[in-house]
Amino acid sequence: MVSQVKAIRRITVRTVLPESIRPLARLATNLRWSWHRPTRELFEWLNADLWAESDSDPVTFLSLVSREELQRLAADQDVVKRVHAAAADLDQYLEQPRWYQSLGDGAPSCIAYFSPEFGITEVLPQYSGGLGILAGDHLKAASDLGVPLIGVGLLYQAGYFKQSLSRDAWQQETYPVLDPDGLPLTLLREPSPDGNGTPLQIALPLPDGRRLLAHVWRADVGRVPLLLLDSDVPGNDDAARSITDRLYGGGGDHRLQQELLLGMGGVKALRAFQKLTGGPAPEVFHTNEGHAGFLGVERIQEMMSAANPLTWEEALAAGRASTVFTTHTPVPAGIDRFETSQIQHFFEAGLAPDVPVAKILDLGREDFVDGNPFVFNMAVMGLRLAQRANGVAKLHGVVSRGMFSALWPGFDHSEVPITSVTNGVHVPTWVDPRIAQLSPDLFGAGAEAKEDWDFAYRISDEDLWALRREMRMSLVEDVRRRLRSAWKKRGAADAELAWTDSVLDPDVLTIGFARRVPTYKRLTLMLRDPARLKALLLHKTHPIQLVIAGKSHPADDAGKKMIQDLVRFTDDPEVRHRIAFLPNYDIAMARTLFPGTDVWLNNPLRPLEACGTSGMKAALNGSLNLSVMDGWWDEMYDGENGWAIPTANNDASPEERDDIEAAALYELLETQVAPKFYGLTVSHGAGAAGPSQPGAQKVPTHWVSMIKHTMSHLGPAVSADRMLKDYVNVLYRPAAIAGRQANADNYAQAKTLAAWTSRIRAAWPQIQVENVDSVGVSEDPQIGDLLQVNAYVALNDLTPEDVCVEVAYGRAEDNDELVDVTVAELKAAEDLGKGRHLFSGTLVIDRSGSFGYTVRILPKHTALASMAELGLIVNA
Ligand SMILES: *Cc1c(COP(=O)(O)O)cnc(C)c1O
Repeated sequence: MVSQVKAIRRITVRTVLPESIRPLARLATNLRWSWHRPTRELFEWLNADLWAESDSDPVTFLSLVSREELQRLAADQDVVKRVHAAAADLDQYLEQPRWYQSLGDGAPSCIAYFSPEFGITEVLPQYSGGLGILAGDHLKAASDLGVPLIGVGLLYQAGYFKQSLSRDAWQQETYPVLDPDGLPLTLLREPSPDGNGTPLQIALPLPDGRRLLAHVWRADVGRVPLLLLDSDVPGNDDAARSITDRLYGGGGDHRLQQELLLGMGGVKALRAFQKLTGGPAPEVFHTNEGHAGFLGVERIQEMMSAANPLTWEEALAAGRASTVFTTHTPVPAGIDRFETSQIQHFFEAGLAPDVPVAKILDLGREDFVDGNPFVFNMAVMGLRLAQRANGVAKLHGVVSRGMFSALWPGFDHSEVPITSVTNGVHVPTWVDPRIAQLSPDLFGAGAEAKEDWDFAYRISDEDLWALRREMRMSLVEDVRRRLRSAWKKRGAADAELAWTDSVLDPDVLTIGFARRVPTYKRLTLMLRDPARLKALLLHKTHPIQLVIAGKSHPADDAGKKMIQDLVRFTDDPEVRHRIAFLPNYDIAMARTLFPGTDVWLNNPLRPLEACGTSGMKAALNGSLNLSVMDGWWDEMYDGENGWAIPTANNDASPEERDDIEAAALYELLETQVAPKFYGLTVSHGAGAAGPSQPGAQKVPTHWVSMIKHTMSHLGPAVSADRMLKDYVNVLYRPAAIAGRQANADNYAQAKTLAAWTSRIRAAWPQIQVENVDSVGVSEDPQIGDLLQVNAYVALNDLTPEDVCVEVAYGRAEDNDELVDVTVAELKAAEDLGKGRHLFSGTLVIDRSGSFGYTVRILPKHTALASMAELGLIVNA
């Protein structure tokens, strides 16, 4: 019954815990519980019913325990002992030296990580998909490895929407408002003797004399603090209060103000936090996707308003040195773009009063070939404000270098200074407890966890197969429960829903597909030929079954239409026992889904999937991947860990592509995947046991060997520990070193670099390769012959030390393009007067066939991270 008495105000009363069990508060608020099973088990052990009622949320759980029950627990010596042991274990985890502590003093003392979303646990629904989950896994792995990271983000009042379906299968969105007091968060307050000081407040000026105020909440992700800015505070007008209302809610100004708060407010929040805690200032700032890019403007503002102010150029050089930018999408619609006039409007309100607004506008301006000069592009700004940048898989690195190559005109795409670090997933979060139990060494909580990824080989085929079935069974049960509840939301009565109790079969090959639903991920590719899909689902001896989930962006009707088409297919009584769409994909669902699937399907339009991480989570649990060669799979598929869906040529039309790739998918399922699962490929022709005969099923030896191979080989490669170590080694450490060098002696090097850069930029239009000749090539050149190259260059006001003159050589194609290029620096040989110089050097002709070379000039300075950095080059 729905109560007619509605609260007009809600307050959350924090539970006061009796002294003897007080550490429970810390165990509940530190989010380590989300990946530390013993902590969750402790809560469950205290009261299993309330634990279930709380949906496994420790903070809610504590609020549900009555006072009497708390008193009883506090008097129980077993309880007290266990609570204190768990707290001691947490303390040890928080304080013990870990991997990072072995790196010595050179490693950065603090790294700030800015992201628009963080997916840590379903209890804190501040994520929409892969970007957020990745950020959450980044923080968790940083904690496990002892990397001194601080996360910075926004606290959205409703987070991302909850998805349900209408009767006719149209996505419905609801935005239940979260109560921060009921979340595992603490409000940052000004220091006061009783710890109850006024909330710490961040302020940004807005146009028309308005102000945007924000409070700062702190979440603890193991050792890593996460600061979340919240604009729903008393001093704001209604519009300002709703800036942090939803994740990716509005567009235009609303979105822009979120990003201003995240970037500029985020740096202010960090500084305030540092003052409160006395911790070190970040030596590296990591901009996780363009949305957070304004952090660089705030840092420039800090340096331009200091007691000894830097100029724009100096502050830019210093800021860039210690900034890392990660781009996450090759899909243009995924990149934030604003009108330049909008940005101007906001900055003229005084957001960065000491920074010339025109300079800020230039940071994001698409002032390159095919760009729109009236557009302010957040990814472009991200790249211009960071000396180091990366994509999130090897292929995505290649794609990003091409995509942003207009920023480095004259350079080969391979020289565009964007590297890649392949994403990873946080193993303790995503591995099923039943798998974790197989290797306490690997999955245990100890700091000395052994890298024992071969554990699967120590399990018998039979046991592993039985375990896989058990996990599949858990998924089947979860699907039945979720499907019934989804149908009730769609308006069905219990009497109509008996069929949901027998949906799916724990002995049938189970394929999972779950992710956001942008067009390029092609949710409905499997429906391309509905009759063929039906035949696969209903096959007599080797059927498949499909579990599908995903949210469409609320403004994306094409995505909602795909969901509708899919759900209508699944509604068909003929197939509905073999295919299910589950509404409201989230972390909790994902944790049952990955372990329960035998095959994880991914069929994006190559190369639009930057990395994709769900297949990695599946692999950790022994699920095999069946995927287009895109993102991470492009670099990690090895022929024994799953299947590659072939991609049509790029010149095929989208329709043709879908036809070809869907046909390839059906073909693989029919002839490779299903027969192997049912053990039909064993050479002596063992028959399939068929579905629904538990115990009668033979162990499919080859399949099981693929599982073992997947777990042992992909495990370490997809782990977020590997990713974090890569970030530290490839990006954080070099950025910290560059930052220290730039800042030392009152920014001496940043100042030199800025002055030098201005001089180079001014002189560059006059630089020329006037003439090139070569000596030593006979009529009939042979491999091994030497070739002396002389380049006559005009440097005018620049000196030979300012530049690098290079010869680039390789195989010459018919159109004179060079491939397999090698470069060698030429030496300044003679000053020819009037700003002209001879550079020369000798190269060895190292290949037969058509050989070509060219000469080029680039600016050279020790403080540049790459020769392409300034985007300046003169080709002969
Ligand atoms: C892993 C995950 C994603 C991201 O999946 P992709 O394969 O990278 O698209 C999205 N949502 C949830 C709940 C996840 O666990």
